[in-house]
Amino acid sequence: MLIGVPKEIKDHEYRVGITPAGVRALTDAGHEVLVETRAGERIGFSDELYLAAGARIADSASEAYACPLIVKVKEPQSGEIPLLREGQVLFTYLHLAADPTLTRLLLESRIVAIAYETVSDAAGALPLLTPMSEVAGRISIQAGATALQLANGGRGVLLGGVPGVVPGKVLILGGGTVGTHAAMMALGLGADVTLMDISLPRLRYLDEVFGTRLKTRYSDAYALEELAREADLLVGSVLLPGKRAPKLISRALVKQMQPGSVLVDVAIDQGGCAETSRPTTHSSPTYIEEGVVHYCVANMPAACARSATQALTNATLPYVLAIADKGWKVALKADAGLRKGLNLHLGQVTHAGLASDLELPCISPDIA
Ligand code: NAD
Repeated sequence: MLIGVPKEIKDHEYRVGITPAGVRALTDAGHEVLVETRAGERIGFSDELYLAAGARIADSASEAYACPLIVKVKEPQSGEIPLLREGQVLFTYLHLAADPTLTRLLLESRIVAIAYETVSDAAGALPLLTPMSEVAGRISIQAGATALQLANGGRGVLLGGVPGVVPGKVLILGGGTVGTHAAMMALGLGADVTLMDISLPRLRYLDEVFGTRLKTRYSDAYALEELAREADLLVGSVLLPGKRAPKLISRALVKQMQPGSVLVDVAIDQGGCAETSRPTTHSSPTYIEEGVVHYCVANMPAACARSATQALTNATLPYVLAIADKGWKVALKADAGLRKGLNLHLGQVTHAGLASDLELPCISPDIA
């Protein structure tokens, strides 16, 4: 099958749909990959590397879009939508529930849209969201450590301490994928780390994995208030699936935090878990509110687009191969989890959650 990989055009988006390693695997399997010129230029994946991996280079976006299967990173932007063709398969992050206008435009284009974020695995987890949570969790500590520096408004605390000086205190609120990877990084730096979650099985698991280096605490308002007041860095990484993030950190609590302490609200893409959080961008990632430095970037993985692209291809490649090898209908029939990724089919919504959020009818297409 001919697979198109357009250059991402969303602001500050430097990830690419497929790495040169992914291209190699696809061409070894007998497929053709058409990568738009300079798609990976900013992250060290030159056209030459793609060519050496077996890709062909498309001179324009319209050429890259003239393929039966398109593999991307972000949802199509307004300039890309006219390039889509009826019956074409689009495999990418879409997040359509939050964007009725884009949904309408994609319905009008009559494509087959398979969204990374709703593909599930046998355990019901979301395997194509996990790698970005891993990346964001690890970045949260790097970003927090930087924000803690005096020049950035922070209180001048070195997270690892030094001999004779106690390490900084990191509080992680939510011990899922983001929280676990934040804990790993913070412990690696030598910080004093406490992780909170409302799931006791999860806390037990993390206690077994990290041992006594990680302090765990059941998450309730009482414990959060006590620990937030003394934290140097608070990472917000809670998630209630399918819902807006709960506002666990009130403005009053932020006021009680130490001046110059840092709040990295990773959950900002779901509205944020602090009352004082509002989305920021990579070009202006922080602001100070109630004396606390807030970092609330909604697309954190873009900061490390090279690593994020590699992590994304590692996760998407088996699905891309399945779709390219078998055709999308047979691939979806063979994998109920991939079937959950189907959001739109030839002008109709095919995902129950999306249909209910947007109050549109949901159909179950005959993919026999
Ligand atoms: P996850 O489902 O793996 O983990 C969420 C955890 O929060 C769970 O363990 C859950 O038990 C816990 N939780 C729920 N309510 C809680 C409470 N009241 N107190 C403490 N813990 C609570 O989710 P994840 O993949 O780790 O993602 C976390 C958040 O990060 C999500 O909102 C996700 O969308 C977001 N995210 C943001 C970015 C970004 O760039 N900003 C990138 C990736 C993920």
